[in-house]
Amino acid sequence: MKKNILISGGGIAGLTAAILLSKQGHHVTVIDRASSFTKAGFLISLKSFGIRIMEELGLSEKLKMASYSSEYVSFLEKDEQIIQHLSYEKMNENIERSILISRGGLHDILYDNLKGHVNILFNLTISDITSQGTKTEVIFSDGSKMEADLVIISEGLRSSTRERYFTDSKMEDFNTHYLGGRLHMEHSYPVGAFKIYIDVNWSC
Ligand SMILES: Cc1cc2nc3c(=O)[nH]c(=O)nc-3n(C[C@H](O)[C@H](O)[C@H](O)COP(=O)(O)OP(=O)(O)OC[C@H]3O[C@@H](n4cnc5c(N)ncnc54)[C@H](O)[C@@H]3O)c2cc1C
Repeated sequence: MKKNILISGGGIAGLTAAILLSKQGHHVTVIDRASSFTKAGFLISLKSFGIRIMEELGLSEKLKMASYSSEYVSFLEKDEQIIQHLSYEKMNENIERSILISRGGLHDILYDNLKGHVNILFNLTISDITSQGTKTEVIFSDGSKMEADLVIISEGLRSSTRERYFTDSKMEDFNTHYLGGRLHMEHSYPVGAFKIYIDVNWSC
């Protein structure tokens, strides 16, 4: 049965859900608090599950076209002393393949795929949600209303709607150290190499 689905938050997660659900024939509306989408963003490395989803969406070729090839990775101390210098090929030899793409580049592929098929409304947030049986009534920040069969909240890490309506949800601590990458701006290629800094004394 076709459902009326509202997705609040049009980031990578929200747009991926919108494509999958609209392909299944559901009527999908995406809202975002931003006034437009931006192509800005850091580099992300898309791995197994992410790559499989893009294949499922039929977007593998576009993903390949928008990805960056990388030559090598240098692991550095804070004083830039090289710990390890590896070719990217070597680094990926014994682990699952990964694809380097900017967050904005990945988001743009998804957005391009659903523009015109899915209703995307900017400058809009959820003001109130009330459930009546199997239906959910949503009131938006501009005063308009919608009746939905399913509401998906994909507003990212600092979701105000999740905090307000899913008070028992918890953030999972993966207990990992984050490695920050810095691009070498003076490189002659768009993104030919990047450095990974390791701060071994880091603690939280
Ligand atoms: C520096 C950095 C590096 C990273 N590297 C990697 C990596 O290598 N590999 C990887 O897989 N992941 C990486 N990540 C994580 C990855 O980028 C995020 O997990 C991903 O972007 C999250 O997508 P999302 O759609 O869940 O949320 P977001 O991208 O945060 O999107 C949320 C959307 O919801 C909208 N929104 C927010 N609040 C509201 C509201 N109240 N109402 C309506 N709309 C709202 C926002 O405007 C936004 O469009 C990295 C993250 C950072 C910060």
